[in-house]
Amino acid sequence: GFKCGIVGLPNVGKSTLFNALTKTAAAQAANYPFCTIEPNTGDVAVPDPRMTAIAKIAGSKEIIPTRLTFVDIAGLVRGASKGEGLGNQFLANIREVDAIVHVLRCFEDDDITHVEGKIDPVTDAETVETELMISDLESLERRVTPLRKKGQTGDKEAKVQAELMDRILELLHDGKPARMLDVSGEELKAVRDLNLLTTKPVLYICNVDEESSGTGNEFSAAVEEMAKEQGAGTVVISAAIEAEISQLDNEEQEEFLETLGLEEPGLDRMIRAGYDLLHLITYFTAGPKETRAWTVTSGSKAPQAAGVIHTDFERGFIRAQTIAYNDYVELGGESAAKEAGKARDEGKEYIVQDGDVMLFKFNT
Ligand code: GDP
Repeated sequence: GFKCGIVGLPNVGKSTLFNALTKTAAAQAANYPFCTIEPNTGDVAVPDPRMTAIAKIAGSKEIIPTRLTFVDIAGLVRGASKGEGLGNQFLANIREVDAIVHVLRCFEDDDITHVEGKIDPVTDAETVETELMISDLESLERRVTPLRKKGQTGDKEAKVQAELMDRILELLHDGKPARMLDVSGEELKAVRDLNLLTTKPVLYICNVDEESSGTGNEFSAAVEEMAKEQGAGTVVISAAIEAEISQLDNEEQEEFLETLGLEEPGLDRMIRAGYDLLHLITYFTAGPKETRAWTVTSGSKAPQAAGVIHTDFERGFIRAQTIAYNDYVELGGESAAKEAGKARDEGKEYIVQDGDVMLFKFNT
C-alpha cells in the first residue's frame, strides 16, 4: 500500500493527530520531545461518500473502503542530519514513505513548549526541510564522485547520471529541495531512483488553535503562501478538535461538527489530500455482497487495476465491464447502465478513471 509519513518538530501535534487518525492510544501524546520513538503505523479508511450511493443501488450488505497508511515519524530536531536526537533513524524512516505529511505548529499555547522558542511555522518548515536537504546533499556527494570518474573514462550512462546529480546538487546548494528540479519525462524515473528525501511530495498540515479550525489564522496563511511557491499542498486542521471528534460516535460527531461550522472532520480532508498528493484514484466493485473501493495510481491500465484485487486477475485479464460513477448513479445501477449503452467493454489498454465501477473478466 501507499504510505504517508507524518513529520514535524517535537510538540507540534503529530501524535495528537496520529492518535485521532487511528483512534488508538498507540502513539501517546505527551508534552515532551521524543515521546514516540518507534514509528507507529496506522491504516486509515479513505472517506468516500460515493461508496454509500453505489451500495444503496447495488443492495450491498457491506461497504469496504480503500485504505491509506500513515506512519508517525518522531524524532526530528535541528541537527538530525548530523545524527542529533534520533536523527539517523528519523531519516531512514522518511526514506520508506511515499509522501511527507509535515505538521506545523500554528497554535499558541504558553503551557506547551516550542522547541525553537517561538511560533513560526514557516521557519519550522525550513528547519525540517534543511535537515532533509543536508541529508540528500551528503548522500549525493558520496555517490557522485565515483560516477564522475567513470564518466570521464567514457562510461556514458555514468556521465548522464553524474550530470543529473550535479544539477540536483546545485539546487540543494542553493537551499532548494530536489523536488523543484525541472525534469523531462524520461529523467523523472532516474530522479526517483535516486531515492532522495526532498523529492517526495509534501503536504503541510497547519495545526491551528480550536477557534481557527474553520477559518485558519495568520500562521496558517503564511504557510499557505509558502506552500504555493513550492507547489506543495496545505490543510488547516486543529489536532485538538480532531482528537475530540475521534472520541465521538457518528451522531455526536455530526452535532459537534455543526456547532463548529465544519462540514466534515479535518482528518477526512487530510486523508483525501494525502491521496491526491500521491496521485491516487479510486475505482469500485459493486454487488449484493459488498461495495468496495480500490486504489490505483492515476494513469493505471485496466489489468494493473485488476491486479490490485488479485494477481490472477491481472495475469488472466480479458476485459473489464466499466461504468462511470455518474452513469451508474444517475441511471440506477448495472442493468440500467447496460440498457443505456453506458456499460463499456474495455480492454488491456484502457486507462482507469476515478470513480469507474468495474467488473473484470479473466481466465483462471
Ligand atoms: P508531537 O511531539 O508533535 O507528537 O506533539 P503532541 O501531539 O504530543 O502534542 C504536544 C502537546 O501539544 C500535547 O500536550 C498536545 O495536547 C498539545 N496540542 C496538540 N495539538 C494541539 C492543538 O491543536 N491545540 C492545543 N492547544 N494544543 C495542542
